[in-house]
Amino acid sequence: MEKIQVKLKNRQSAVIVGECLNNLDKYLNGRKNFIITDKNVNEIYGERFPDSPVYIVEPGEKSKDLGVVADICRWLLDLGADRHAFITGIGGGVVCDLTGFVAAVYLRGVNFGFVATSLLAQVDAAIGGKNGVNLDGYKNIIGTFTQPEFVICDVDMLISLPEKEYVNGMAEVIKHALINDYGQFAHLEEFSIPILAKERNEMEFIVGHSARIKAGIVGNDELEQGERRKLNLGHTWGHAVEKVTSLPHGESVSLGLAFSARLSVKKGILKEEEKERILKLLADFDLPVINEADPSTVFDALVKDKKREGGSIHFVLMNGIGNVVIEPIDIEELKNFALNGN
Ligand code: ADP
Ligand code: ZN
Repeated sequence: MEKIQVKLKNRQSAVIVGECLNNLDKYLNGRKNFIITDKNVNEIYGERFPDSPVYIVEPGEKSKDLGVVADICRWLLDLGADRHAFITGIGGGVVCDLTGFVAAVYLRGVNFGFVATSLLAQVDAAIGGKNGVNLDGYKNIIGTFTQPEFVICDVDMLISLPEKEYVNGMAEVIKHALINDYGQFAHLEEFSIPILAKERNEMEFIVGHSARIKAGIVGNDELEQGERRKLNLGHTWGHAVEKVTSLPHGESVSLGLAFSARLSVKKGILKEEEKERILKLLADFDLPVINEADPSTVFDALVKDKKREGGSIHFVLMNGIGNVVIEPIDIEELKNFALNGN
């Protein structure tokens, strides 16, 4: 078990990798607790939840909705939850985003924690204090920065995760290695999804490593004014892909990572053979590296989505493997590259 402290200005937040759902009670310290989860997670693990009222949402992105937020707040009110109530989200990224937002706004904020149950939530979504819901098809448009008291990453719960969700989470694991951990990248080159899923200790090691990278970056820049923007690696192009296709987040990010690697080669800061290693690792984990979507449609979505900063877009590029730089890329140059060079 590994306890990672996220160093924040106003409060303590800890990510505990390898802790077990059964020990959640220990972290509640006798407070009146309310659980938010989704149907799938409740079906498999509900019996092991501590004795608390449980609100069950539909699985999937559609639950990140203001109507659902209102329903949960009504439920909390009906049950008499006051300012001293505690809320625990048990689930993947959707449940964590929703729980964090409800806890941030209910009675102007109550304390909360997570049991992150998907790989994506354990290494990414549950860490860092960003939460939010969607509006009119725009993702995470309404949300806050509010830190959970704890994030329990029970790696044994990953055993029931559908393989496509593993793949999704792996895109963020690879992203973290590319941002600042060559050693982890080289380590991952020795594995693939089916092997990982069966090796619990390996999973704990990889989740711990990845969570530590994210926690470290968040601790340096909680409100995303500088270094935290490195975490957008693969997401500038990736979000645009996600918007115009029906690809899942992880696959879209994989295409974004491949795009960034190719652009980095063009900029002369990544070697051709390094790019090939990156594409191979993504492909080994069943992640796509060749863009099936029409690049001009993706490019249009990207420009529409991004605030222009004097005719350029800030892009996270790879300065070798395990190191990134943020550079403004001229819009025309980007368009040219997206349409012809990618
Ligand atoms: P993500 O974690 O990828 O952001 P979700 O919260 O939607 O997205 O989780 C992905 C899917 O995996 C959902 O259908 C969710 O119910 C399911 N899920 C999450 N954790 C587990 C688990 N430990 N076992 C089985 N299914 C899970
Ligand atoms: Zn992501």
